Amino acid sequence: MTKATLPFTRPTLDEETIQGVVEVLRSGWLASGAMVAQFEGALSQYLGGRPVRTMTSATAALEIALQACGIGSGDEVITPALSFAATANVIVRVGAHPVFVDVDLDTRNIDLDQVEAAISPRTRAIMPVHFAGLPVDLDRLYALAQRHDLRVIEDAAHAIGSSWKGRRIGSSGDLVCFSFHPNKNMTTIEGGAISGGSAQELAAIEHQRFHGLVKTAPDCFDVLVAAGKANLSDVAARVGIGQLPHLDRFNDKRRRLAQRYLECWHGDCALHLPARGDEGHSWHIFAPLLPLERLRISRLDFVTAMQERAIAIGVHYPAIHLFSAYRELGYRQGQFPNAERIGRETVTLPLFPGMEVDDVDTVVEAVNEVLGEALQ
Ligand SMILES: *Cc1c(COP(=O)(O)O)cnc(C)c1O
Repeated sequence: MTKATLPFTRPTLDEETIQGVVEVLRSGWLASGAMVAQFEGALSQYLGGRPVRTMTSATAALEIALQACGIGSGDEVITPALSFAATANVIVRVGAHPVFVDVDLDTRNIDLDQVEAAISPRTRAIMPVHFAGLPVDLDRLYALAQRHDLRVIEDAAHAIGSSWKGRRIGSSGDLVCFSFHPNKNMTTIEGGAISGGSAQELAAIEHQRFHGLVKTAPDCFDVLVAAGKANLSDVAARVGIGQLPHLDRFNDKRRRLAQRYLECWHGDCALHLPARGDEGHSWHIFAPLLPLERLRISRLDFVTAMQERAIAIGVHYPAIHLFSAYRELGYRQGQFPNAERIGRETVTLPLFPGMEVDDVDTVVEAVNEVLGEALQ
């Protein structure tokens, strides 16, 4: 019998949550209702009492956050060249121009010196990413934003449960967007949320997530803006209600597993390891860089060799500016060397709360074996 492949991630759902979902399915109310309200309340409490609005995805949340800030045609938004494509796609979708800057090779986070240099009279916002759950320097980021009168929209898709100097990501700041996709640190199947926002932005967020609709009388409603639809279902929200109480435990486990990887490869190691961070790092992924220039094999060969050893490998992410849609905007190879190198060399090793330290040891052994044969 062949061994089941160890995935690079897998959601953890308990029986209580599954039973809770069944009850919602039997309740007669499936769309946004009491479960969404309860989930938003629980998230708000987790994030220090800030207003929280849920959405169908982080992609929707980021796009709605931009709209709520009034960002559109002619505006520029500064964002890292290394992230999931959604981070930049939403900027294009609202009609604004994504201005990429490079990232740090170790933290994978946006280089704030380069942000400063990229600011123009058209810049309206900065959209950083807390890559892999390692927070961006929020003190420097917000000082910079305030100096230039810019709004900050944090892509915190990797960072639910992360903290910066003891403050949870999303418990402060302008507009902070989370993802609850099944690959993220907690899930609602598909889902996302925005934490924060001024009173005016919150009203705009509510309009944008539900047709621009406001009730004007029990038998009447008005449509204030021709908006789309991105409200979470009660079924999805019930999954989130079951996940949130376990989030800190999930993240503790992620930290322990990441620690084990770092411990095993302490000192002499062919891989370029990611920055360690501190206890505020929630380790959404563990993604070292392959020493491709010293290897006789390609990344694809590495992935295949690991697959043969029943271990799945992910890639997070190719540099965004090299995608066709962004080359069309004029971006070229060579502009953001760190993002490009990470895009070429990165591999995501298995890391999820259902794994054990023994699984990490198995992965480390397999990686060492594959690299040992391939190093020249
Ligand atoms: C997953 C992810 C998104 C999009 O999240 P969805 O909930 O799938 O829309 C955005 N940004 C980053 C950095 C992500 O990893």
